[in-house]
Amino acid sequence: MAAEPLTDLSRCAVHTMTTKPWSLEQALAGYAKAGIPAITVWRQHLPAAGAEAAGRLIRASGLKVSALARGGFFPALDAGKRQAAIDDNRKALDEAAAIGAPMVILVCGAVPGLPLAEARKQIADGIAAVVPHAQALGVRLSIEPLHPIYAGDRSAVNTMAQARAICRQFDQVIPGAIPGEKSSDRKLVGIAADVYHIWWDEALEDELALAGHHGWLHGFHVCDWKTTQSDMLNDRGLMGEGCIPIRTIRGWAESAGFNGFNEIEIFSTTRWTGDQDAWLKTCLDAYRAHV
Ligand code: ZN
Repeated sequence: MAAEPLTDLSRCAVHTMTTKPWSLEQALAGYAKAGIPAITVWRQHLPAAGAEAAGRLIRASGLKVSALARGGFFPALDAGKRQAAIDDNRKALDEAAAIGAPMVILVCGAVPGLPLAEARKQIADGIAAVVPHAQALGVRLSIEPLHPIYAGDRSAVNTMAQARAICRQFDQVIPGAIPGEKSSDRKLVGIAADVYHIWWDEALEDELALAGHHGWLHGFHVCDWKTTQSDMLNDRGLMGEGCIPIRTIRGWAESAGFNGFNEIEIFSTTRWTGDQDAWLKTCLDAYRAHV
């Protein structure tokens, strides 16, 4: 079988969680040295000095910011906690604006004991509460559907269709250029599509096409699904290690008009224990071969 052509790094981004032991400063230096053009910053990697200081570091590094991760976790059993989540999401939007992130990725939330349909209603209500702030800042809200294994306590939004049902409730548009994107007409509330969570969905190709058509396709995350995982969260596969047809799915996203960054997002306790420069190089080799 002929080898697939290699993918260059021009649209590659890396999540700081992929190299979790690194500080933001170390990640910026490591990614720049490796020729990676963009970074998705997790809030836990924002320095103690704050998001403004992080913004200065990032601008000095020359890297673009693909996203801030993460906001969300809107549903709760009591109104006080729901309000606290809304406040925290406004803060995340402020941080995104400070570092130049075009979107906040939303892990929407779920609560044991709260029916999923009610949780989805609370998620839509929570997003509605922060939309005016997002619009004022020019930062998008990007719903990441999570695999159904997380429906218990991390997200009641488990499919592209469920994310789409929420996106449809909002019609605000963000004008202007997004780094790495050409479209001038993108919806404020959209979707971050992560192959780990949605690869199994028989409707995936159609859903990506719909999301692209409506301006909802904000982001694209890659890793792989290993058929045996030692941990539900922190044993994700390197691209090529599992069973996800990543390149095929990327093709569907691009056919739908997606031209943003392909974000490498791998949570792996095993990989975090090793040398992170070597791990990053492994990630990039896998990206070239499998994304
Ligand atoms: Zn993701």
